[in-house]
Amino acid sequence: MLNIILCGAPGSGKGTQSDFIVQKYGLDHLSTGDVLRAEIKSGSELGKEIESLIAQGQLVPDHKMIHLIDHYLETRSENCKGIIFDGFPRTVEQAEALTLLLERRHMEAVMIDLFVEEDEVIKRLLERGRTSGRADDNFETIKQRLKIYHDVTKPVCQYYLKKHNYFAINGNNTMEDTFAQIDTILRLIQK
Ligand code: ATP
Ligand code: MG
Repeated sequence: MLNIILCGAPGSGKGTQSDFIVQKYGLDHLSTGDVLRAEIKSGSELGKEIESLIAQGQLVPDHKMIHLIDHYLETRSENCKGIIFDGFPRTVEQAEALTLLLERRHMEAVMIDLFVEEDEVIKRLLERGRTSGRADDNFETIKQRLKIYHDVTKPVCQYYLKKHNYFAINGNNTMEDTFAQIDTILRLIQK
């Protein structure tokens, strides 16, 4: 199995690169942002609880996220070629929990970290905000999301670096250029 954790600032291109990876490698794509937005749309209890958090650029509490991932792995991890984790783990606590959840199923994951300059991600998110309809694609919320990314999510990269399960790539240029780098790594690590 080829399990990948895509990390990177908001707007770094995790969703776009996931689509490329799905096309070439046939992996399953788990975007926690998409799952949470679908929850809000469904009007469920969880959706109501998390709607304002997301609109403010805050993180959804760890225990809720970990429960969601556990449930996903329980129902989806068999008979698949591998999983792309897009948007999870976002805290060290989530990373530690994911390690246990994967170990329990004899799985492991490698992190690919997309490096994009801050000016560039702000530009991309504001551009996306013109059509995305996302409550969090506005300047004030983008600033908050970037702050949380630096303070809380960046340490997750260190966690995988220490486990020797970490690759960093330059995501500043075109989507194709970024994918070429990811493709090189995936060909290397594919078993
Ligand atoms: P992009 O999708 O452009 O890379 P992003 O990473 O900021 O941007 P999403 O991954 O779509 O956006 O997540 C949107 C919001 O959903 C986050 O700001 C957060 O509130 C919530 N969220 C998503 N994943 C998690 C997680 N693992 N832990 C806590 N909250 C999460
Ligand atoms: Mg996304």
